[in-house]
Amino acid sequence: MNQGLLSVDEALLRLLAEAKPVAEVEEVPTLEATNRILARAQRSTMDVPPMDNSAMDGYAVKVGDPPRLKVTQKIMAGAVGTKLAPGTAARIFTGAPIPPGADAVVMQEHCTAEGDEVLLKRTPKPGEWIRRVGSDVRKGGEILAAGKRLLPQDTGLAASVGLKTLPVFRKIRLGLFFTGDELVMPGEALAPGRIYNSNRFTLRGLAEVFGCDVRDYGIVPDSLDATREMLRRAASECDLIVTSGGVSVGEADFVKPAVEAEGRLLMWKIAMKPGRPLAFGSIKNSFFIGLPGNPVSSFVTFLIFVRPFLLRTQGVSQVEPKSIAARADFDWPEPDARREFLRVKWNAQGGLELYPTQDSAVLTSTAWADGLVDNPAQQPIRKGDLVRFLPYSELYW
Ligand code: AMP
Ligand code: MG
Repeated sequence: MNQGLLSVDEALLRLLAEAKPVAEVEEVPTLEATNRILARAQRSTMDVPPMDNSAMDGYAVKVGDPPRLKVTQKIMAGAVGTKLAPGTAARIFTGAPIPPGADAVVMQEHCTAEGDEVLLKRTPKPGEWIRRVGSDVRKGGEILAAGKRLLPQDTGLAASVGLKTLPVFRKIRLGLFFTGDELVMPGEALAPGRIYNSNRFTLRGLAEVFGCDVRDYGIVPDSLDATREMLRRAASECDLIVTSGGVSVGEADFVKPAVEAEGRLLMWKIAMKPGRPLAFGSIKNSFFIGLPGNPVSSFVTFLIFVRPFLLRTQGVSQVEPKSIAARADFDWPEPDARREFLRVKWNAQGGLELYPTQDSAVLTSTAWADGLVDNPAQQPIRKGDLVRFLPYSELYW
């Protein structure tokens, strides 16, 4: 039944075989490096914390000294104390360096201050409430691996070892255009027969999620010349061109002949639902991926094909999305002969609900959902079955 159709996995293999990581590396301020891909592993040139310091507000003491001690100094975070004489204690605050001669901190809740003395109500253990030098990061140790997408906690970690800038891969220049004489932009009058260009919003938003430098060329009329001209322009400015619509074999589908005239094109009919036709090719030094026009199809095919292509091009090695084995709280008795990506949502019982209409033109399903169930061809789902769930949170990177 799937004769002539390419499997999703085979299409992905073919796509990824062509994706080459961008070579250009740029040094960006660590403060602006969130969501960029680290080009080289980073090592620390220092210990963190750089010195033994107090984990609590309290008193720095020498274990074995009597419980009543004279308080001879006060050490705040950022200050440095002096050597602790026998029989004395230092008032100390969180983050402040442990003075020489002290080997424990007693938290202030376990002390009574009496004039210039302190009475320890607990016997300290050696090392108690002391954060040791290098206990977070060791000098010379790797803190971040190459190819890692930098999250806020990663740039924080880089800053904690004093890295002011980080080497990251150049952003991918992604060109987008949208074919269809029926398309108008929100804000324009909707003449009879027209629809709004919703794909522009969905696909541009996705391109931004994946950290691209987006070149949005807007709507291109259904004509061979206009499509060719736009392809030439986009190819001269972009690493990858993604289009929506015009890749079927209808009379108004000019993307295929236009790409063939300007470069090379492979047309794949993919065994997936939604989103059967996918075009892949290249024009000069730029790759081309033509997505179907149906809003759900273009959304899903972007996540399944463009996403891993973009990640691989950005130097990310692990491009397979993480999935969850989740319980279906719905029946899907008549599965398709093609692998399906169903729009589903978590319910309060921790199971998945199905959006009632799985039609590829019903964009509401994608906005309602929390992610997609990746259902193998011809596999019925019964309530209670475990299914492969791809949450948007895992697909959005
Ligand atoms: P096509 O792939 O060009 O045949 O388009 C398939 C369906 O998707 C048609 O119903 C189009 O009107 C619709 N469509 C195409 N492009 C867009 C777009 N940018 N936004 C919303 N719907 C679209
Ligand atoms: Mg069209």
